[in-house]
Amino acid sequence: MTTSPPPAPLRYLSTRGEDAGRRFSEILLEGLAPDGGLYMPDRYPRVDAGTLRSWRSLSYAELAEAVLGLYVDDIPPRDLRDIVARTYTAEIFGTEEITPLEPLGDGLLLQGLSNGPTLAFKDMAMQLLGNLFEYELGRRGETLNILGATSGDTGSAAEYAMRGKAGISVFMLSPNGRMSPFQQAQMFTLQDPNIHNLCVEGVFDDCQDIVKAVSGDLEFKRRMRIGTVNSINWARLLAQVVYYVRGWLRATDRDDQEVSFTVPSGNFGNICAGHVARMMGVPIRRLVTATNENDVLDEFFRTGTYRVRGAAETHETSSPSMDISKASNFERFVFDVVDRDPGRTRHLFGHAVTADGGFTLTPAEFARGAAFGFSSGRSTHADRLATIAAVHRGTGRLIDTHTADGVRVARDHTEPGVPMIVLETAQAVKFADVVREATGVTPPMPAPLAGIESLPRRCEVVPADAEVIKSRIAGYVRP
Ligand SMILES: *Cc1c(COP(=O)(O)O)cnc(C)c1O
Repeated sequence: MTTSPPPAPLRYLSTRGEDAGRRFSEILLEGLAPDGGLYMPDRYPRVDAGTLRSWRSLSYAELAEAVLGLYVDDIPPRDLRDIVARTYTAEIFGTEEITPLEPLGDGLLLQGLSNGPTLAFKDMAMQLLGNLFEYELGRRGETLNILGATSGDTGSAAEYAMRGKAGISVFMLSPNGRMSPFQQAQMFTLQDPNIHNLCVEGVFDDCQDIVKAVSGDLEFKRRMRIGTVNSINWARLLAQVVYYVRGWLRATDRDDQEVSFTVPSGNFGNICAGHVARMMGVPIRRLVTATNENDVLDEFFRTGTYRVRGAAETHETSSPSMDISKASNFERFVFDVVDRDPGRTRHLFGHAVTADGGFTLTPAEFARGAAFGFSSGRSTHADRLATIAAVHRGTGRLIDTHTADGVRVARDHTEPGVPMIVLETAQAVKFADVVREATGVTPPMPAPLAGIESLPRRCEVVPADAEVIKSRIAGYVRP
C-alpha cells in the first residue's frame, strides 16, 4: 500500500469569480459571496469504491461525519463528530435509520427525509446548521440575529433548529393570518425566548421586501449582527449530500450498482446536493428534477432555456413549497455546466437573468449539461390527486403533495435494474386537505405534535414597515 500525501486544504470560491480562498468556517455563516455569486468548493473530493464499501456499516451520524469531514477541515474532527452525533438521533428524526427506505412497487423506493421536528426535509440540513452555528459563534465569542421571511416550511425549520441555541436569536417575518393553521401552530407555539415571530400585516412579498430593506441598511445590519439561513447556504447543501450517499448505500449491495433519484424541486437546493454526490463518485445514474405547474426547471432541462417567471406567471399550487419563479441554487449547477468559467456564469446570472429575464445555453453547453445525468418532468394538481390515491391503494401509504409530484415524474423515468429512489420531502399530515380529497383518509397527527393546535401562541402583529420592524429588533438586541 502506498500512502498519498495529505490533500491540500479545500477552499471555497464564488461562482462569479471572486477567489477569496476561504475555509469552511469562514463561509458557514454567510449567504451570497461578496460579488453576488454562490460559494462552491474548489474541487469535489472523490470517494472510491473501497471507501463507499467501508461506509456500508456506518450509522447515519457516522456517515455524516465521514462525508462532511471531506469538506470541513477547519473544525477539529472530534468536535465535528460530537456535532453530528447530537444532530442525527432517533429522538430528533424518529428512527435509528434517520432516512428509512420503503418500497413503493415497480422498482420505486421512497426515502423518508421528513421525520424531523417540522415534518419536512428542510430539517435534515437545518438541524445541523443550528448546531454548527452555535459551535462556531461560541468559538468566535460572537452572537448572531437571524432575520428571515417565510410563508411556511423554511421559517419553522429554522426556528426548530435555532430554539434554545446559545448566542442565536431568530426574527421570523410571516404574513399575518396567511399560513396554514398547522404551520401557524408549529411556529407560534414555540415558547423559547430566543425565537421572535413577527406577523406582518401584508403578504409574503411584503415580508421579503422588509428583509431586503433591513439587510440593505448595512450600518444597522452590522450593528445588530443580522444574518440569514436561506437555501443558498453551503453548509445546508452539504448536509443534504449525506442522504444521497445513504440512499445509494441502502438501495444497493454491489460496489458498481447504479441508482437514480427523483427529487421534488423548487429552489434546486435538494437536487443540487445530489449533483455534488454524483460528482464525488457515488454511482448515481440519473437525477430527475420533478416540478409542479411552476416548470422553470423542467423547461430548462428539456430545452436549455432558463426563463425566470414574473409574479403574475407564478402559480399558487397544492405543492406550495415548489412554487418558485426562479431557482436560487441553480447557478451552482450551471457553473459546472460551463466548465466553471466564472466570466460566463457572471454573464448568465449577473447580467442575462436581470436584463433579459433568462438565457439559453449554447448547443455545446447544453450537450455538456446532459453528461451530468439530469432529466426532468412536470406534474399537475390532477396528477398529484391521482398519484396520492394510487400509492395509497397500492401500499396503504399516505404521501404528501410534493412527494406525489416526485412519484408521478419518477414513474416516467424508471429503467430496468436501476432502483429509482424518490425523496419524500414532507409528511402527508402537512397537506391534509388535499390528501383527504385524494383518498378519503385524514392523515394522523404524529404523537409529539398531538394537541399542538390548542397550545398558547406567541406572535407579535406588526405593520408592513421596515422602520417599525427595525425598532422592534433593536428593542430585543443587546448591543
Ligand atoms: C423546500 C421544499 C421543496 C423544494 O426543495 P428545493 O431544495 O427548494 O428544491 C420541496 N418540497 C418541500 C416539502 C419543501 O419544503
